[in-house]
Amino acid sequence: MRIAALGFHHETNTFQSVKTDYDSFANFEFLRGSEIADRHATSKFTLAGYFRSAQKFEFDLVPLLFAFTGPTGTITKDAFDRISEEMIDLLKQNGPWDGVLLAQHGAAVTEEYPDMDGEISRRVKEAVGPDTPVVMTLDLHSNITQNQVANTDAIVVFRTNPHLDAVERAGEASEILVKTIRGEVRPVQHLVQVPMIINIVKQPTSFGPMKEIMDEVHEVLEKPGVLSASCGQGFPYSDVDHMGISFLVVTDGDAGFAEEQAKWLARRAWDRRAELQNDSSSVEESVHRAMNAPSDGKPTVIMDVGDNVGGGGTADSTHLLAEAIRQGLTGEKSLLLTLFDPRAVQICISTGVGSAITLKVGAGTDQLHGEPIEVTANVRAITDGKFEEPKPTHGGLRFFDYGPSVALDTENGHTIVLHTVRGIGNMSREQYYSIGILPEQYKVIICKGTVSPRAAYEPISREIIMADSPGVTSANMATFSYQHRRKPLYPFEPETKFD
Ligand SMILES: [Zn+2]
Repeated sequence: MRIAALGFHHETNTFQSVKTDYDSFANFEFLRGSEIADRHATSKFTLAGYFRSAQKFEFDLVPLLFAFTGPTGTITKDAFDRISEEMIDLLKQNGPWDGVLLAQHGAAVTEEYPDMDGEISRRVKEAVGPDTPVVMTLDLHSNITQNQVANTDAIVVFRTNPHLDAVERAGEASEILVKTIRGEVRPVQHLVQVPMIINIVKQPTSFGPMKEIMDEVHEVLEKPGVLSASCGQGFPYSDVDHMGISFLVVTDGDAGFAEEQAKWLARRAWDRRAELQNDSSSVEESVHRAMNAPSDGKPTVIMDVGDNVGGGGTADSTHLLAEAIRQGLTGEKSLLLTLFDPRAVQICISTGVGSAITLKVGAGTDQLHGEPIEVTANVRAITDGKFEEPKPTHGGLRFFDYGPSVALDTENGHTIVLHTVRGIGNMSREQYYSIGILPEQYKVIICKGTVSPRAAYEPISREIIMADSPGVTSANMATFSYQHRRKPLYPFEPETKFD
């Protein structure tokens, strides 16, 4: 049994001004053939689940191509044409296939295709023919479409946020594919798109209404005849018609049952719509609460929701740092944060470790993410910004590379780590340990994210505060001017109906 594995993986924030071109993939992660096994055979990402399944179910996995980059702006037509053509050529040249495993994200937008994942699955199905099953795995932040459903035999979506279950879901997808090839099951799927969005601050699956929604997905999964059940939480920063939450159920041959179960999940989520909206704290209130938290030896973490790097944030917002300085947060180890700032890193590298320096940091990308802040500091360390995180992190990343990085201890008692590669948030505490900084010892930590830093910071924090900070990933959805989203859509149109 020969199964092809490939993926063109991107979460597109269409509100970002910078387009995602071919080099954005080529310079980040663009793997072919055996490079995919070298990188992912033991990672915690979807592809690792395919490799494990190949051993478990004894099939020949042929990894062809995997292109991935951080969540940036709309993918250029040139990048899409070149990458998709290479994918399809490889599929055609190396066939015939018994089946295909497709590792997509589900929220990719190109200049030409608002639903890139639907178009990729269409081209893949066309290349291998209608009788060759194709099973696709998607990120939980997927905007799932009928086109994706029509061009795959089954779709399996991550079920935890932070995403710690990529390997398991890839295993589930592989099992459905293998059983389909053997003729043991005949998957049919039904998608229900609900006319609403879940605010980014309500997307963690470990508590609140989202936990209840995922409990119900698990309830459906337990039912006889159900092969998979998923919620696509939706990615609200993709301005496309199909943006929003959806439910997908895959059954063994029973289309009516799949429809009934997907509709039940959709209705239950709709009934919770009011609880799924923004209730984050203002920047001022977030800093005030964190500064005045009891000193019980554990840090208070403030999530910089407007600069959520995992959602396309610029990684250099200074709104929270400026507010902490304004409110007088000082004292040894009072504040810890990272900022993307290649210019400041160069200055610090030229002055060297141990030197005292006054310079401006942060907010170098645009006006939306605050003003550069002048700090007087000691250059504590200079590193290459590379480290390995052995524990599972959001999305299964293991090898991190923030580019040349510098740690500064400021005269206010703040520690700021400046880095030169933008597209990764604060997903691993190794980012600090690898420089000799112990985040546990700080009073307040600012994390550039909403959900993805939780797996790393929940275990060491006394409280996590969601800050309604301005930025390209703001929780305040009224700050975005949508051109393409469907209408009506709750909560933009509060009177939206769903039956
Ligand atoms: Zn995601």
